[in-house]
Amino acid sequence: MIKYILRCCKGHEFESWFSNSNEFDKLNKKNLLECIYCSSNNIKKSIMAPMISGSKKDKDENTILLKENLSTKKNELLRIRKFVEKNFEYVGDKFSQKVREVYYDRNTKKSIYGTTTPEERDELTEEGIDLISIPWVSKDN
Ligand SMILES: [Zn+2]
Repeated sequence: MIKYILRCCKGHEFESWFSNSNEFDKLNKKNLLECIYCSSNNIKKSIMAPMISGSKKDKDENTILLKENLSTKKNELLRIRKFVEKNFEYVGDKFSQKVREVYYDRNTKKSIYGTTTPEERDELTEEGIDLISIPWVSKDN
């Protein structure tokens, strides 16, 4: 794929991708190219943009971006996990039972966390108990 910057007779510039350099000439001869701004068919190739899709450089940059993104997300999740571990009481797989005790006992102001099965989760939601599900990242994974 090659990207060209195209220019119409009124000076509008826009980018377009072609499978190869001949494709532009072919399409243009048949008047199949038009300006995206004024629909003029009088199109000229301006300059070839120095970018070719799928180049190694692009891929590397995308991979780096993705990795940075993931590690930021992971750090956020780790922070959440730390906060929960410090401020909430862990009740393990008794969560759905405990959460009802907390929910229906107005005197209890406890924050708890634990695990549920999807079924338990649905039941609790039906009872109007708000849950937040957090992706539980492990520190060394
Ligand atoms: Zn135009």
